[in-house]
Amino acid sequence: MPTQKQLYKTILSKIKKYPKIVVFRHQIPDFDALGTQWGLVTWLKDNFPKKVIHAVGKDQGFFRDDLYPKMDIIEDDFFDSNTLAIVVDTANTARIDDARYDKAAEVVKIDHHPNLEPYGQTVLVDTTTCAASELIMVMIQSFGRRYKLSQQAAVYFFSGIAGDSGRFMYSSTSPQTFAIAKRLLETGINANRDVYLKMYEKTLQDLNVTAHILSNYKVSEKGVAYYILSYQDQVNLGIVSQRGKDNVNLFANIKDVHIWCSISEDKENNVWRVSIRSKLVSINDVARTFEGGGHPQASGAKLPSISDLPSLITALENLL
Ligand code: AMP
Repeated sequence: MPTQKQLYKTILSKIKKYPKIVVFRHQIPDFDALGTQWGLVTWLKDNFPKKVIHAVGKDQGFFRDDLYPKMDIIEDDFFDSNTLAIVVDTANTARIDDARYDKAAEVVKIDHHPNLEPYGQTVLVDTTTCAASELIMVMIQSFGRRYKLSQQAAVYFFSGIAGDSGRFMYSSTSPQTFAIAKRLLETGINANRDVYLKMYEKTLQDLNVTAHILSNYKVSEKGVAYYILSYQDQVNLGIVSQRGKDNVNLFANIKDVHIWCSISEDKENNVWRVSIRSKLVSINDVARTFEGGGHPQASGAKLPSISDLPSLITALENLL
């Protein structure tokens, strides 16, 4: 088994070798998926200006336009023996947002989720890092100061770390997380102006969604809190299903609530998407039994029908 340091070197040699690089991330991206993807793409362009570098995946349109660029559109014939695919923040191939990663000459996986599916020729996984952005920054730092870190790359990586650590609040936040944040801020970026204002801006309409949830949530006997946003609720509230989980952490600091979930109907895919969070117990094994997965304290799952919800709540209650 190669050490982390050997893997960093291997990845750098692959980056140097290939003239074309495409960076992938998971479907329905969050701040860490997009922050890591655009951070890496920016860092690659800054340091290897002769290479052709792209970021792919569906445009979601639910983040502020000035936080991340529009995704690149590339033709199938871009992928050939000169193309390297780097997939970030994605545990399994089914979740990669663009199946053409396997048309590249080589695939590098860089992730911080449990390594249940070690796809690709090079696999760099570190579940001790709070965000994929933290892991990539650790790797970049190992390359030494001859590689530059621009403010733009730093903004993207900072957004990934802030997103997945809950602004340095979750237990995954470590001394290394702060050390990387220090390095990013040393580029001269302003965390509030350049990152937080763009990530966390809310509208009055968002407040209405929160008000609806606060009037309709439920808590099970042992302390599993949850709210349901059906397609009709989403239409009434003026949101898309991907935004349904935005309020899940309303329940994070509530006494006697140990696990909390959002359940949002995804009519387009005929499924109910669940975001599960927990104070202390690990919920990712239960998430896996409901077509999902993730981290011990933050996982996602899918229900084919809302009638499956009681069995999920029971499975979560059984953890308590
Ligand atoms: P979410 O609730 O969508 O914010 O996801 C929480 C964490 O679980 C993230 O790290 C996701 O990457 C992961 N996750 C969400 N849905 C799934 C899924 N269906 N399969 C595997 N991991 C997932």
